[in-house]
Amino acid sequence: MNDGPVSGTRYDHDRNALETLLGDELPDLKRYRIEQIWEWLYTTPRDPAEWTNLPVPVRERLAELLPSALHPATESISEGGQTVKFLSELDDGQPIETVLMLSARRVTVCVSSQAGCAMACGFCATGQAGFTRHLTTGEIVEQVIRAEMRAQQLQRRVSNVVFMGMGEPLANTDRVIEAIERLHGDLGLSARNLTVSTVGVVPGIRTLAAYRLPVNLAVSLHAANDDKRNELVPINRRYPIDDLLGACADYLSAKNRRISFEWAMIDGVNDTATDARELAGLARRLRPSAHVNLIPLNPTPGFATRGTPLDQVHRFRDQLEHLGVNATVRRNRGTDIDAACGQLAAGQPVRITGGRRHRDETAPDHR
Ligand code: SAH
Repeated sequence: MNDGPVSGTRYDHDRNALETLLGDELPDLKRYRIEQIWEWLYTTPRDPAEWTNLPVPVRERLAELLPSALHPATESISEGGQTVKFLSELDDGQPIETVLMLSARRVTVCVSSQAGCAMACGFCATGQAGFTRHLTTGEIVEQVIRAEMRAQQLQRRVSNVVFMGMGEPLANTDRVIEAIERLHGDLGLSARNLTVSTVGVVPGIRTLAAYRLPVNLAVSLHAANDDKRNELVPINRRYPIDDLLGACADYLSAKNRRISFEWAMIDGVNDTATDARELAGLARRLRPSAHVNLIPLNPTPGFATRGTPLDQVHRFRDQLEHLGVNATVRRNRGTDIDAACGQLAAGQPVRITGGRRHRDETAPDHR
């Protein structure tokens, strides 16, 4: 048996790569074992120590060959367990966060695509913290798998994945696309249940448009004229609204999937009747018109302005509807555990006790 180093973590390998790896490293392994391993990776995911239909020495070798990329540190639970935030540490010590949201119809995982973010949106906690590095494919996929393990304990299965955690997915497009391949092909999620959310990185939108799977595209717009958007979303200076809308139109014609515009409502900043008119104008430039998701700004340490009060949020929604644009007011889930949109920062160093497994889930860490 060759005990030399093998590159890649547990979810970096697709089926072919896994078969090659196991063929090289464990040449005596019977073929049906590969199917068993695959099921432990994707169908009923567990850590290798619990792969009970495999002999213990094989499990131990597999644990070395397929190391975990995520070292779970803490879980925070809110809304009676309907929202769970996972804080994990990567091999190099970087902390990242993942959020699991359960509702009657859906089980959604919100994944991080980078440690930190370089986009510097002032109202976003991740943006305030700055950029550290891209996540690997395995680091992205394993976030979903760990959430799936948790969902299965609750007799549920992950149905949707949104790339709305830490980082800008379309600044890490290649790895994000590989992760989507794995989630679609290996975990079995439908492309229409996968959503990539971007601040408006135009080349990334074009790459995604040329990619084969019709995933949903969400664009974090937040302002509908360049002056205001340059302030709120600095990448707008590189990819102004006209270019962004052009890329959205091309995405639409390539995929025929409705695009959504995300709009964090900031009191007195982007919640007036003029803002509604400008936003409706942009939404209607796309055919079919973009769907607008409104979410009152969540509080973050580095941004003084508060979210729009709920009655004004509803008025704004009504104005958009009146102008022919569908809009939904989104709940901000997980605010109490800093797990809501834009609150993922994971700034504190993580101390892991008790190895690489989940901590006792009866004692969630409420920060
Ligand atoms: N970088 C990507 C994905 C991560 S952010 C993007 O910008 O789309 C996920 C969503 O949360 C984005 O729509 C983002 O604008 C929004 N968001 C960021 N900070 C927020 C805050 N403080 N309150 C509400 N939404 C916020």
